[in-house]
Amino acid sequence: MNANFAAIMPQVLAVWCEEEGHEVSYVCYTGFENLVNELPQNVDIVFIGAFTEAAQTAYALSNLFQSKGAVTVLGGPHARCYPQDAQKYFDYVVGFTNKSIIKEILQDCSSQKPIGLYLSANKQPESLPGIRERWKFIDKTLRKAPIIKMVPMIGSLGCPYTCSFCIDSVIPYQTLDFQVMKDDLSFLLTKFKRPMVGWHDPNFGVKFDDYMDAIEDAVPPNSIDFIAESSLSLLSEKHLQRLKRNGFGALLPGIESWYDLGNKSKTGQKQGMDKVKEVSEHVNMILRYTPYIQTNFVLGLDSDEGSEPFELTKRFVDLSPGAFPGYSLLTSFGQAAPLNLEYQRANRVLPFPFQFLNNNHAMNVKPMNYSWIEFYDNVIDLGKYTFSWKAIFNRLRANKTMIPKWMNVVRAISAEGFGRVKYNIEVRRLLSTDKQFRDYFEGETTELPQFYKDQIKKNLGTLWNWLPKEAIDHDPNAYLKSTFEVNEERAIAV
Ligand code: SF4
Repeated sequence: MNANFAAIMPQVLAVWCEEEGHEVSYVCYTGFENLVNELPQNVDIVFIGAFTEAAQTAYALSNLFQSKGAVTVLGGPHARCYPQDAQKYFDYVVGFTNKSIIKEILQDCSSQKPIGLYLSANKQPESLPGIRERWKFIDKTLRKAPIIKMVPMIGSLGCPYTCSFCIDSVIPYQTLDFQVMKDDLSFLLTKFKRPMVGWHDPNFGVKFDDYMDAIEDAVPPNSIDFIAESSLSLLSEKHLQRLKRNGFGALLPGIESWYDLGNKSKTGQKQGMDKVKEVSEHVNMILRYTPYIQTNFVLGLDSDEGSEPFELTKRFVDLSPGAFPGYSLLTSFGQAAPLNLEYQRANRVLPFPFQFLNNNHAMNVKPMNYSWIEFYDNVIDLGKYTFSWKAIFNRLRANKTMIPKWMNVVRAISAEGFGRVKYNIEVRRLLSTDKQFRDYFEGETTELPQFYKDQIKKNLGTLWNWLPKEAIDHDPNAYLKSTFEVNEERAIAV
């Protein structure tokens, strides 16, 4: 499936670079290729887009390419979350990126060692090349997806909601050009008998009627399979009827918490079991209109205390057996969200290496209301309940169509379900038996436990030799310190 999750922005960059007259090689790393063999050899400049969990792979690649004389540029979520750290390993680090920033880098194209140059536009771009222009790069990526081929599209940026942990909560909502979107949808019908489109909008359907009008104008009803992440508050029965007519086959709403964020699930002030009942009814109604639903939760939020939030999620699993619950451990991604400043001020952010910051393999915020052992006991208990054979069977029975039925089974018994429970049991065991491991979680030592060191080396494979040794660690409070520097500069200016 990994090739189906390829990001849009590297494809956009490839188009922009070609428009500037450059010869471009585009490689989508899905986690299985031998990158050292697959990457082009004689390049002048390399752009890498990476999530934080891939940062160390990106740092090693940058080192490799710089050793051959290339200039390197980092963009994507990691560059936005940890610019100070990334500047140590790249010539350029880009935040909000538009075509003029890329042109500036291409024209300059010079080594910036020892500290890379940070560039950012003051907002996200107003337009992006559509599928038609990105097609040769999309096509190359989808060749790596043997069965399901999902084309990435985006119709909007930012989000009007304000979930405090989210990188999009501070980005003003804007739609992109609907005409490009319509053209792209009809173009796709010339490439596939029945295309599948994954919407990369942070929150799909905020301007619901505009979107649906555009889709209905462009293509016959139910001729494309769509997948989207959307808030429950946007998924009213009337909207679901229209989504069904237009082929929306999978929806991924965020519930996040039973005690917080009521606005996005439209449950207002309701909390606890009242919220569970209301959300369950809503989710079951969604399943009457769409074959697949994944409901997302964040575990370890400051609003949670004791075993009750976990017990409530178990009740939700009982009441909405057809939904696949996706659990994320609370993670503070550098300067992604203003809330992270509060965590850093309270000295609650731990220096887990980037590779583990994928919402599952480490929680880098010390929980407000739990000891680590208590927290992991609850997480393991919830995981075991959600991926018990009874729950797997109930999910199989509650879903009506074949692909969702079996996709849920596969997800439960693979690394995502069983695998994660096993991993958390090992973390829990080390917490109670290995003092140095426990001290790391308590912030009493910054010496990385061997358990994590071994995984970094194994996961990087041949790239391990190219990872600068100091790149295993990072400063978890760099965001807070950067605000001091800004304040100092202001004070000097005054
Ligand atoms: S609704 Fe989703 S995209 Fe919007 S701020 Fe909340 S978590 Fe982020």
